[in-house]
Amino acid sequence: MRAALSPSRAADFKQCPLKFRFRTIDRLDEAPSPAAARGTLVHSVLEEVFELPAAERTPEAARALVPGRWAALVEERPELATMLADDASLTHESWFSAAERLVDRWFTLEDPSRLEPAQREVKVETEVDGLVLRGIIDRLDVAPTGQVRVVDYKTGRAPGAGFEGKALFQMRFYGLVIWRRTGRVPDLLQLVYLGDGTIIRYEPDEADLLGLERNVRAVWAAIEQAVTTRDFRPNPSRLCGWCDFKPLCPAFGGTPPELPETIEIITPEATPGDDQDSALP
Ligand code: SF4
Repeated sequence: MRAALSPSRAADFKQCPLKFRFRTIDRLDEAPSPAAARGTLVHSVLEEVFELPAAERTPEAARALVPGRWAALVEERPELATMLADDASLTHESWFSAAERLVDRWFTLEDPSRLEPAQREVKVETEVDGLVLRGIIDRLDVAPTGQVRVVDYKTGRAPGAGFEGKALFQMRFYGLVIWRRTGRVPDLLQLVYLGDGTIIRYEPDEADLLGLERNVRAVWAAIEQAVTTRDFRPNPSRLCGWCDFKPLCPAFGGTPPELPETIEIITPEATPGDDQDSALP
């Protein structure tokens, strides 16, 4: 069993152990969704825009990147083009307009002509007592004073008051990885919600990140327990409505495939825009 966790997979297990199993042990295919594909496209544009000279990072220039970034994504993942073509509820025009609106909204929240990120779409990984923690950070800013800011883009809407915990779990997870790698607690964790133009900022400290580390260890211990007992229970919630595995889920009358004799958990590296849940309506 590979002891590795990303924030997305840890969140999966916390939300529903059976969904975690389907994704990381059975590794069942999931159909791409229009919202997730748009999230990936927008992330790609916001990454690419920093290739332009600072003064040219305008909304018009960013929108002009959309067709090229989409073509590159489709070359990598042709199923995305098929998904758009097959979805009768969508027109190409409305789907791309929605992506452009998200790009436009970013410019109302941040000014990329005044930003020079230290790193973009950076893969981070660290090991805590044999458990690998990994993820991908959309943007890392380092101020001339040395202050570090971790930035993540979400193409959905910000969670309501009192429901920020799940999103902050991901950011605190990144904060922990950076702290363990560099010895410095990031000064600011920043979530940029393009769906409704909201920014959530959070200043972590060591005590907070130690608490997060205990939380992640507890999640991993629970995963090990589920592996030992071969028991990954469904945990029905409102999120089941967006779960591709519903037909196989006993909570909805389905039958999961047999677990393999030797259980191997593969936690793939996250991909930019791996924020489907936040893009839910
Ligand atoms: S349908 Fe719901 S309970 Fe079943 S696996 Fe998916 S998230 Fe879990």
